[in-house]
Formats: sequence, C-alpha cells, structure tokens
Amino acid sequence: MTSDSLAQIAQAELHALVLSALLGHGASDAQARAVADTVTAAERDGSHSHGIFRVPGYVASLRSGKVDGQAVPVLSRPAPASVVVDAAGGFAPLALATGIPALCETARATGVAVLSIGNCYHFAALWHEVEAIAAEGLIGFACTVATPMVAPAGGARPFFGTNPLAYAVPRPGRLPLVVDQASAAMARGDIMLAAEAGRAVPEGVGLGPDGAPSTDPARILEGAQLPFGGYKGAAIALLIEILAGGAIGGPFSDEAGAADNADGGPPVGGEFLMALDPAQLGGGSDWQQRIDGFLDRLSAIPGTRLPGARRHERRKALAAGSPLSVNGARLTALRQLADTRK
Ligand code: NDP
Repeated sequence: MTSDSLAQIAQAELHALVLSALLGHGASDAQARAVADTVTAAERDGSHSHGIFRVPGYVASLRSGKVDGQAVPVLSRPAPASVVVDAAGGFAPLALATGIPALCETARATGVAVLSIGNCYHFAALWHEVEAIAAEGLIGFACTVATPMVAPAGGARPFFGTNPLAYAVPRPGRLPLVVDQASAAMARGDIMLAAEAGRAVPEGVGLGPDGAPSTDPARILEGAQLPFGGYKGAAIALLIEILAGGAIGGPFSDEAGAADNADGGPPVGGEFLMALDPAQLGGGSDWQQRIDGFLDRLSAIPGTRLPGARRHERRKALAAGSPLSVNGARLTALRQLADTRK
C-alpha cells in the first residue's frame, strides 16, 4: 500500500465508515462513536498516522478479543482532586469522554485535578484530549505509555514505549495552543508510513536489529527507535512510564508488551491527565491574556510557529463539511472492513 493515490471523502461519510467497521466487529455504539470521532478528527487535521491508518488495528483487537468492544467505563472519585476511570478493557476514547467532564469540573473546584484512566487500549493522538480540556478554559496535560519500542539512552534494545505527552492552553477567542509529541525521535506510525512508502527516515530515528544506527524504517521497526534529544528525551519517556504506568497502577511499557497478543491493535495501558485552573493557583484572573501575549511575542519571531498551528491552519482552511483527501488504498481497505461482519 503506498501513500501516493489520494481519494476524496466527506467527513460525515468517513465517520460513518469507521463507525460501521467497528460496530460490525463487536463494538458498542458508544465505543465505536468515540473512536470514529478521533479517527475523523485526525484525518481532518492531517494527522494521518492516527487516522484511518489505525482502523485495521482497532478492528484486529476486537476480532482477537483483546479489546472488549462492549466495555462501559466506570468513574470513581477516590480523593477530592482525583478522578479515576476504569476503561474496563475498552478503547481509550470512550473512557476519556467519560472522565474529562468530571476532571474539568473538579479542577474548577480545586485548582488542580488528575484523571487516571486504567485498563484501556490507546492508539490515538493525544491532542484530542488536551484540546477538550483547553476548550473548558483550563490548562490540560496528558501522557500515556505503550509497548517497548524505544531504547533508553546508551541502550540498543527497545524498553520504553514511544510515550507521547501533550498539553494545551486556552487562548481567548482563538484555538488553544496545543503541543503533542512522542518521546521517540519519530512516532512509530510515521516510521511505518515511511516503510510502506519505501522512504528513508532521518539519522537519529533508530537502530537496526544489529544495534547500529539506520535510516531504513523497516530495519528500525525490527530494531529499536531512539528517544528525541538523547538522554533528555529518554528522561521524558521515563517520567511518562512513572506517571502513566507506576503512579496510576497501570502497566509499564515492558509489562504491556509482555501481555500483548501482537494482533496489531493497541496495547493495554493507562493514561495520566491533569487539568489546572491558574486563576486558583495564583495566576490571577488575566492569566489567559498574559499567556496569549507571550505566545504572540514568540510567534512574531521570524521563522517560528507555534506547535499545533499546522493542524489548526489546516482545520480553518477546510470549510465545514468539505471533503477530505485521504489515502486511496487505505480508504478501500476501510470500506472492506465496513462491509465485513465478524
Ligand atoms: P511531531 O514531531 O510531528 O510534532 C510534535 C509537536 O511539535 C506537535 O505539536 C507539532 O505541531 C509541533 N511542531 C512540529 N514542527 C514544529 C515547528 N517547526 N515549530 C513548532 N512546533 C512544531 O509529532 P510526533 O511525531 O512526535 O507525534 C505524532 C503523534 O503520535 C502525536 O499526536 C502523539 O500523540 C501520537 N502518539 C501516540 C501514541 C499512543 O500510544 N497513543 C504513541 C506515540 C505517539 P503540529 O501538529 O502543528 O505540527
């Protein structure tokens, strides 16, 4: 499958196809709808490594029985600033949709609140969830673990997940600042896309199975990815293992890897989220305006742009309801999945 041939599809039709593919393989309407929302938003924003590219993996995990497509997340509040959602073996997006309103409500009352998602299967980009927190006028932070793909600094075998972190900050009258990055030098989905297209990746992305640096994505997929920024990126990956693994009682990436059935779908894991209301943390009532001005000064520097701006510009340029350009071969595969019943 190459990335060359593009096909046009209406956003609503794409959403309906993803919904149908998941419903046809055992997902409940709520589970399927929450995943279809994130997949469609990813394609809309040009985050192709987390769009329809991921649907075969979602379906595979339903087919293998790894993910419970009928799972109903359970919310509890064990402490004043804490919201816990047990995803009950379902996909992450529904657990997030269940927990984020309670997280924001709690942060408004306490100034800071944490949402721990457990027993979930995460396969998506994280900007979706932090943007939802910023839409409530709060600073949002999220991180999640995965399975071993990234070598620790100095090592040559995978140990950390690609462990993404994201944060979002509301801006008065504008789309929020949203930063969302893997702690690997390159997200695995992008390496897979490069392998599919027969395209080399930059130096520093990974090591081959022999432990030597490689620019061949296929060899890196068999070997190990590298963290961004050497030992400093590795320290971020480690922090994420501690927050989204150890601190919330979920598996670390190595444990999730050992438990995985290698069906090509997402691994079991947890997600750590935090919401802050700076007005209650000494930030004053004008904290949004102050940060907004700072971001304006930053983005006025020639040659710079704000993280998230690429996605937001694309979103603004796309008239509501106008069709999306997606990978033609992947769309054909999606149509087949939508037509197939388990
Ligand atoms: P990128 O390296 O493409 O981008 C990282 C961040 O940097 C983005 O916020 C991006 O904004 C910003 N950025 C990029 N270029 C510039 C620039 N020139 N100036 C300023 N900011 C810039 O992302 P990754 O490859 O690291 O991650 C891709 C996705 O993979 C993420 O969405 C992540 O959540 C997801 N992921 C999910 C995992 C999971 O288990 N669920 C595991 C690992 C990754 P912009 O978007 O506007 O380009």
